[in-house]
Order: sequence, then structure tokens, then C-alpha cells
Amino acid sequence: MADELPRPEPKEIDEKLAIQLRHLAEDAVLRGNPYGEEQCSNCLFYMNPDNKLSYCWHPKLRILVGAAWWCQWWEKIEE
Ligand code: SF4
Repeated sequence: MADELPRPEPKEIDEKLAIQLRHLAEDAVLRGNPYGEEQCSNCLFYMNPDNKLSYCWHPKLRILVGAAWWCQWWEKIEE
């Protein structure tokens, strides 16, 4: 009979990062859905508008975000 593998569990680093990211999201009022017409994919800081997941280069965030997410630092892309 094969030995049972231990069930994967989050490590201390994961708990720490989860807390840091939660604070970051709270500061940004980050939401997983659009705010009217505003969403990450049409925000100045969204790196690759064609991708459903992309890097947000806003200096207070610098994380991966979803195209349909939104935060209070959304900024219009000037033509
Ligand atoms: S600044 Fe906010 S709205 Fe703009 S891409 Fe980053 S997370 Fe999305």
C-alpha cells in the first residue's frame, strides 16, 4: 500500500503574503468587478489590454489583476 502524501497546506510565507496583499487591496479599494464603464482593461495602468489577466503598474499596486477588476486609482487612457 502506498504511503499517503501529506495534504498541502499554506506555509508561513503564504499567510504573510496573503495579509500583505489583502492590505494592498483594501488600500486600493480593489474589486473583482467593474465600476460602471471603468475596469482594469481600459485603465492607463493595465499593461496588456488584450489579456484577461495583466500586470498593473500603478506604483501603489504592482500586482497581477483581472481585466474586469477595478480600483480607486483607475485612470482614463488619453487618446
Ligand atoms: S490602477 Fe486600479 S483600475 Fe487601474 S489597472 Fe491597476 S488595479 Fe486596475
